[in-house]
Amino acid sequence: MLARFGRSLYRHRWLLMRRTVQISILLAFIVQIPGYGKIAQGNLSSSILFGELKLTDPFILLQSFFAGSSIALPALLGAIIVGGFYAFLAGRLYCSWVCPINLLTDLAYWLRKKFKIKGNMSLSRSLRLWILALSLVLSLLGGTLAWEIVNPITRFQRELMWFSLSGAMLLGSLFLFDLFVSRRAWCGHLCPVGAFYGLLGRYGRLKVTATPTESCDSSGCSRCVAVCPEPHVLAPVVAKQAQSVTSGDCTRCGACLDECHEGSLSMKLDLVGMVSKKTDQ
Ligand code: SF4
Ligand code: SF4
Repeated sequence: MLARFGRSLYRHRWLLMRRTVQISILLAFIVQIPGYGKIAQGNLSSSILFGELKLTDPFILLQSFFAGSSIALPALLGAIIVGGFYAFLAGRLYCSWVCPINLLTDLAYWLRKKFKIKGNMSLSRSLRLWILALSLVLSLLGGTLAWEIVNPITRFQRELMWFSLSGAMLLGSLFLFDLFVSRRAWCGHLCPVGAFYGLLGRYGRLKVTATPTESCDSSGCSRCVAVCPEPHVLAPVVAKQAQSVTSGDCTRCGACLDECHEGSLSMKLDLVGMVSKKTDQ
């Protein structure tokens, strides 16, 4: 019984780690520690950590720049810290380890599978890039942070603290759209924040890497592809045309690692690739 529980924990280890990190980050903004206060003030767009460290979402900063707002030095430094972290490791780490909307869209996906919901309207993955470009153009024309008017990520955090009907309706629609209309619709096709972080972390060094075992070679099970929120990123690895996932769309969620029972995949920090790229230049 205990061994079965241990095996089940191991099979969901990446999911459990992600949920722990995501929920801890949300709690850091909400929970008051007696005699200290909150660990983080503000929200994911702009926050102060431990009362000292200013952090800014670089996408917010970019919109501010396009909107023509003056950018304060602490905000710029905060964006460099956050942007540098994601550019070095992997931009879409933000999606699966930080963003609260991922809790909602993962739940919709889980329900789709559980109840075998088939609706799958075809959407282009490049739509999110167009929405990203449109957000910047509208920021420029309107002199405002255009995406922030609707951004469900900040809405989610606000909803947790101050319920509002419009926010709840927005989040509810997004959830229902993912559940009934199209598989991974929001995060996989529409969200410009995910698209921005995908571009930012295009050359991130944290990579899903294949070490094909004999059984992986012979069975070609592709279970990793079936659970991947961005299946196209694994295609070159499964086809043995690449040894690691290089697409910026990979969220480093680890779902493929949890699913692979052959141990053919691992998450590696590829610093050697970075050095050899530099020496090649
Ligand atoms: S794609 Fe957008 S909403 Fe989805 S997890 Fe990433 S940032 Fe959050
Ligand atoms: S390749 Fe693996 S880590 Fe990357 S998005 Fe797909 S399932 Fe997640």
